[in-house]
Amino acid sequence: MVYVGIGSNLGDRYDNIAKAVKYIKANGKITVSRVSPLIETDPVGGPLQGKYINGVIELTTELSADELLNVLAEIEDRLGRKRSVKNAPRTIDLDILLFDAQRINTKNLKVPHPLMCEREFVMSPLRQLCPDIDAFIKKIR
Ligand code: ADP
Ligand code: MG
Repeated sequence: MVYVGIGSNLGDRYDNIAKAVKYIKANGKITVSRVSPLIETDPVGGPLQGKYINGVIELTTELSADELLNVLAEIEDRLGRKRSVKNAPRTIDLDILLFDAQRINTKNLKVPHPLMCEREFVMSPLRQLCPDIDAFIKKIR
């Protein structure tokens, strides 16, 4: 099972997330199984900016983690994501949180996502999908 964190704090945030989910579902090599409830959260770090809508998508895929990262980056581009300073406001952010039990530590991809456990805006929706996820992360780290 793969978990992707999704966040938006620019433009029509719910619409951005709905479109991102739609585009992920449209990929023939990805099957979305569940989407968590969405929550509104305060921004963490970065410049002064508006609140986020956050959620987590559960999916299975025949893509590799690297290939999935590329698919997610294309969707971010398609939704008008501009890359500026770190933690800048964004129309959409799609992060790979967990990819089965894989541990990945390359220049472009770190899985499990290094900051996920410290981020309530990630863990809260993730726990709603998987109440036992903390034990799983502890096991694979
Ligand atoms: P952030 O999500 O930290 O605010 P970005 O979305 O701009 O920042 O991503 C910056 C880079 O983080 C991406 O180009 C990607 O290569 C890298 N990255 C490393 N690990 C991951 C991961 N697990 N999921 C998504 N991106 C990741
Ligand atoms: Mg990101």
